[in-house]
Amino acid sequence: MRGNAAVLRESGTELTIEEVEFGELASDEVLVRIAGVGVCHTDLTAQSGGVPLPLPVVLGHEGAGVVHAVGSAVETLSVGDHVVLSFDSCRECATCKAGHPAYCELFAALNYFGTRLDGTATMSRGDEDVHGSWFGQSSFGAYAVASVRNAVKVDDDVPLDILGPLGCGLMTGAGTVFNVLRPAPGQSLGVFGLGAVGLSAVMAAKAAGCATIVAVDLNPERLKLATELGATHVIDPSQTKDVNWAITEITGTGLDFTVDAVGLGSVVRQAVEALRSPGVCATLGLQGLENEMTIDQGHLLIGRTLTGVIEGDADPHELIPKLIELWREGDFPFDRLVERRPFDEINEAISSARSGQVIKPVLVFDTA
Ligand SMILES: [Zn+2]
Ligand SMILES: [Zn+2]
Repeated sequence: MRGNAAVLRESGTELTIEEVEFGELASDEVLVRIAGVGVCHTDLTAQSGGVPLPLPVVLGHEGAGVVHAVGSAVETLSVGDHVVLSFDSCRECATCKAGHPAYCELFAALNYFGTRLDGTATMSRGDEDVHGSWFGQSSFGAYAVASVRNAVKVDDDVPLDILGPLGCGLMTGAGTVFNVLRPAPGQSLGVFGLGAVGLSAVMAAKAAGCATIVAVDLNPERLKLATELGATHVIDPSQTKDVNWAITEITGTGLDFTVDAVGLGSVVRQAVEALRSPGVCATLGLQGLENEMTIDQGHLLIGRTLTGVIEGDADPHELIPKLIELWREGDFPFDRLVERRPFDEINEAISSARSGQVIKPVLVFDTA
């Protein structure tokens, strides 16, 4: 099978659309014809060299599409099934079995190494290997090789081309609220940074019944959208002398929970200091593999927790169908974050995500 894919040949350069060839599937793999694929912040970090990767490589890890072929041992998926692709996990190690596949012991090998576990590449062009298996999929292309572990079957009456971001960015924000922070109805939650991850946290906080949802960002349009999606209060740090004083004005005692979707030391520190006691802050923003920050112990000692979360600590097979159900009920309107764009405009779409002009570009294929 051959198909076009957007190939990264050198860190920091644009992607080139090239025809690649897919070899024989391994027994547990599926070949998916991609309907749409989101652009996630981690793709941008990888493109600019922030994640060590073998080149050439195909990025993309928010794919959704139709199963086109299945490996010999695949029993849970069939040709024609609609699937959302998520991160890969072994589903056999102690961490996976305990229900935390985002912390799988094989996470790096399955998602970042550019090959299958046996070292083979899923794609080639002429005599050259093209690395794939990025988050177990490499879905910046017309087709992607995934496996039964990370291809999640979804109903076929929902708009398949925009479902891909449920497999990473949207799952990260929503999963952090539903699986890690778990606010009770009536509690308060603050979100720092209103990209796709932060805005999903806002929507999830509303769905969870939080009475006070404070959204913090420098972009007035994002603040307006956050209000429409459920934020009860918004703060623009450039218009406020002291963000935490403003939060105390709103809450009296501070927030029960905060989410950092930026990853800058100053923001994480603020998100910890905005808590009441006790309170929990989850940091999600990735700013590169090494990112030291300073926290005042005096602000932690008073019963506060600072934790990091990957992929919303979610099992994609559980959370993705749940998010689709919430969307059906009008409680997770993620489609408002998405902007469709033809696949061949992938470099423009990436620029629009980098500049913040578009919250979640989704590249779509003409699958008619
Ligand atoms: Zn595992
Ligand atoms: Zn991602």
